[in-house]
Amino acid sequence: MITISKPVIGEDEKKAVKEVLDSGFLAQGDLVEEFEKRFAQYVGVKYAVATNNGTSALHTALAALGIGRHDEVITTPFSFIATGSSVLMVGAKPVFCDIEQQTYNLDPRKIKGRITERTKAILVVHLYGQPCDMTPILEIAAHYHLPIIEDCAQAPGAEYNGRKVGSLGKVGCFSFYATKNMTAGEGGMLVTNDGETAEKARMIINHGQNKKYLHAVLGYNYRLTNIAAAIGVCQLQKLDEFNEKRRENASFLTDGIKTIKGLLPPRTNPVAKHVFHQYTIRVTNDFTLPRDTLKKKLNALDIGAAVYYPVPMHKQELFKRLGYTEDFPEAEKASEQVLSLPVHASLLEEDLERIVEVVCDA
Ligand SMILES: *Cc1c(COP(=O)(O)O)cnc(C)c1O
Repeated sequence: MITISKPVIGEDEKKAVKEVLDSGFLAQGDLVEEFEKRFAQYVGVKYAVATNNGTSALHTALAALGIGRHDEVITTPFSFIATGSSVLMVGAKPVFCDIEQQTYNLDPRKIKGRITERTKAILVVHLYGQPCDMTPILEIAAHYHLPIIEDCAQAPGAEYNGRKVGSLGKVGCFSFYATKNMTAGEGGMLVTNDGETAEKARMIINHGQNKKYLHAVLGYNYRLTNIAAAIGVCQLQKLDEFNEKRRENASFLTDGIKTIKGLLPPRTNPVAKHVFHQYTIRVTNDFTLPRDTLKKKLNALDIGAAVYYPVPMHKQELFKRLGYTEDFPEAEKASEQVLSLPVHASLLEEDLERIVEVVCDA
């Protein structure tokens, strides 16, 4: 089976976890602090606050920026549910904005039309590992004095104009779930250059506590464990290597399928460094098979092709029940046409050849 994702775990991770277990300090401690320091340095920001997952990092970011009831946050409908649900968690309203056809990311040209007097932030998602077109988005944000939150769950190490994602907006949020480009089993990180936001985030992830058993704000238990941080520290050291491998795999796949009629390989913005969390093609009507038939065919031949995401957020039952009725045509079209092929760092050359062969024969 050529799976759609596979974590790369070495002897160093196993040794690091064993050391934590032997130390007796399993919960938040020294290794969490070390992971935060190294991660902040890697992204190129002043502060990093580790969390127990990417969703809690997003929730914390929104709460730390004071976003709550009656506020609106502009975001993409074409992402994992946590992007939108984290906005609901603070009591605010996600206001969806359609995506670009080629990158599947928020369309900067459509953001202005979604801004109201209630808009309090723009939550961008660097989907599949490709940074959003940040120059125009940063301009809009500056003009309307709106903070940008970056959902970097799929894009650790990705760059825009030479700057790492997470350092471009006011706050960046990462996930270290097992399928992501680097993992800690579960885990997350919130990064920022703003000291006040970092301080608030640190309270929010620890029951709103500012001094021992003194609680200043509403908080949660969103702390990372030393066990997970030990894995995270090891993985961070290998992240660039993993990402290079993903990028090489992606260009191998593109070379193999680019001439097939009706299949569109991923397009990358020339000023962006794409880290290929997913290698996502578009299966158009000009292809010989419908998208779902191609997917089934690949799966039947033990290739874990998958659809991210088959239902855009505004069409999810959760949002329909909240009264969302607007259409976002590009997001809807993408959800009908996208197909992700395995691209992860542990694929062998023969796996890549096999994927290309099966797609070419379809
Ligand atoms: C994975 C993911 C998240 C959530 O991260 P968890 O660690 O699973 O909570 C949020 N946004 C996007 C775009 C993701 O891919």
